[in-house]
Amino acid sequence: MKELEDRIRRDGVVKPGNVLKVDGFLNHQCDVALFDDMGAQWARIFAGKRVDKILTIEASGIGIACLAARHFGDVPVVFAKKTQSINLEGDQYVTTVYSFTKQREFPVIVAKKFLAAGEHVLLIDDFLANGKAMQGLIDICTKAGAIIEGIGIAVEKGFQPGGAMLRKAGYDVESLAIVTSMDSETGTIKFA
Ligand code: 5GP
Repeated sequence: MKELEDRIRRDGVVKPGNVLKVDGFLNHQCDVALFDDMGAQWARIFAGKRVDKILTIEASGIGIACLAARHFGDVPVVFAKKTQSINLEGDQYVTTVYSFTKQREFPVIVAKKFLAAGEHVLLIDDFLANGKAMQGLIDICTKAGAIIEGIGIAVEKGFQPGGAMLRKAGYDVESLAIVTSMDSETGTIKFA
């Protein structure tokens, strides 16, 4: 998606350790018009698929998932939480994933009442790197018996293995921008 690539080129900052900082429009300050255009693009790409619900993960997935939902008939958006609350374990689907940016494990939690067997789900997240966050959402859907219709990613870092791993597993992964290489010294970012 050219609009997203242009924005990454303009405002993205390449940090050492293969981290792309996009807090000016995606991860801290949010460009809602851009999010809306991204949602419209996913709706075109996934047209014809049954989407009952969008599932994402806090925090940065929430904004893009909510705007996307407007283009999928205002379906509910559920976001997985990364911290436990006082709810009983039995009321929740829980799995554990490793965070690329925080370099530690964290839980992924969804209340059972918000994800039902047989529901058709679109998974959305801001970044795809090693695929751990997405694997966590897939685990949750598997536990719930929900059907994954597709995976919408804003920025895929194509030089990390998550995208290839998920496509090999048979998932329909649609990334709006795929970074093929980036250099923290020159600031250069290349797209597929
Ligand atoms: P994965 O689990 O695929 O390794 O990483 C995806 C998650 O880590 C995303 O939810 C995102 O929050 C974070 N992430 C991974 N790489 C980057 C990056 O280069 N920049 C930013 N801002 N977040 C990233």
